[in-house]
Amino acid sequence: MSEPLVIIGNGMAAARLADELSSRALGRYAVAIIGEEPRLAYNRVLLSSVLAGEVASSDIELKPTKWWLDRGITLRYGCRATTIDPAAHTVTLADGQSLSFSKLVLATGSQPIKPALPGMTLPGVITFREINDIWAMWHRAGTDDRVVVIGGGLLGLEAAYGLAKAGARVTVLHLMDRLMERQLDARAAAMLQRAVEAKGIEIILNADTAEISGAGRVEGVRLKDGRTITADAVVVAIGIRPSVDLARSAGIAVNRGIVVDDTLQTSARGIYAIGECVEHRNIVYGLVEPAYEQARALAAHLTGGAAPYGGSVLATNLKVSGVNVFSAGDFLGAESTEEIVLSDPGAGIYKKLVLAGDRLVGAVLFGDTADGASYLDLIRSAQPVDQLHDDLAFGRPCTKAIAA
Ligand SMILES: Cc1cc2nc3c(=O)[nH]c(=O)nc-3n(C[C@H](O)[C@H](O)[C@H](O)COP(=O)(O)OP(=O)(O)OC[C@H]3O[C@@H](n4cnc5c(N)ncnc54)[C@H](O)[C@@H]3O)c2cc1C
Repeated sequence: MSEPLVIIGNGMAAARLADELSSRALGRYAVAIIGEEPRLAYNRVLLSSVLAGEVASSDIELKPTKWWLDRGITLRYGCRATTIDPAAHTVTLADGQSLSFSKLVLATGSQPIKPALPGMTLPGVITFREINDIWAMWHRAGTDDRVVVIGGGLLGLEAAYGLAKAGARVTVLHLMDRLMERQLDARAAAMLQRAVEAKGIEIILNADTAEISGAGRVEGVRLKDGRTITADAVVVAIGIRPSVDLARSAGIAVNRGIVVDDTLQTSARGIYAIGECVEHRNIVYGLVEPAYEQARALAAHLTGGAAPYGGSVLATNLKVSGVNVFSAGDFLGAESTEEIVLSDPGAGIYKKLVLAGDRLVGAVLFGDTADGASYLDLIRSAQPVDQLHDDLAFGRPCTKAIAA
């Protein structure tokens, strides 16, 4: 008989785990997925492209209904899991029902962070995580609407671009002295700023928000230096926080995320966690590739394979049309590392590769990102690149030669 395996969360990590499990050992587990969002799992990464009108919302479903049916997976979406009893091996749902499990997987993702500032609960303050947030943004992005985006990271810039494309006048407020400081060095960030401004988006750096002002709805954002920016809506995109409450209230060990070992098991036997809700070796990842790698490793573990998860190398692409940005690994480097820089400001191209000894450990690309995936392969495989050191910055033919 199939063992009952329950997955909480119907996001990207859950869908990938279901896929991996059914292709490795269809029928071994009776899989049930509980999801709070009232729809089939979708590609959250593409929400920015939906907002920008480049992809239809109907095209981002990860699998059609038939796929789930064919694999015998029970889907309970539009339903929140409210409690877990690790000793009794049961999960309770918001509608009062209870499910028994032999194995449980938490794939609850993250929530947007909203700072505790005055005005955060005013109508017109929006975050960017779910499809519903796009409807809210479009509603406030008419031609004469002024929208302030708080946060000049990947998500904030993608929101700003989508809103500007929809016709709004957009200002991005960023606390730091450069955009995307967690992915870009100062030179790439300056080039990015010019490219974003060329799209008609205003950027204000070193902007520390004091409050969102308005009587009954958003009217503006006041900065700590006294400046006020008029706004009909405010999009808050300053970061995410792993969704850990369910695990914590069940007595499962939680730090910043739900703590897991290399088999993705939590502190409770038979209960696993994957995706953005997870903390592995003190790292919480906010990207989809680590979630997929964890799903793959967990499926192997649950089906009798031995493929421990050893951590992921982070890589980011910005999805703003015509603005190509790629960053991977240790892009800042240290005193002990070497940098290879290729810069052509006239052509809008900048490339920085960071080497530690004979290995490539990080890369930042602006303008031409075609070689991003090849550099990422080299970083992940940690193979020596010393023989092609002088040609490395010139890209794909060279990195292919190493791989051969
Ligand atoms: C606009 C946008 C753009 C992005 N772009 C990129 C990108 O370019 N590259 C990249 O790598 N990543 C990107 N990301 C991040 C990427 O989407 C996430 O890394 C990925 O979705 C993580 O998958 P997950 O399954 O862990 O979480 P999610 O996909 O968030 O899924 C978690 C699900 O669990 C549900 N849930 C939570 N608690 C419960 C509960 N108690 N009961 C039932 N269900 C529950 C949630 O409702 C949610 O549906 C982007 C994210 C956004 C929002």
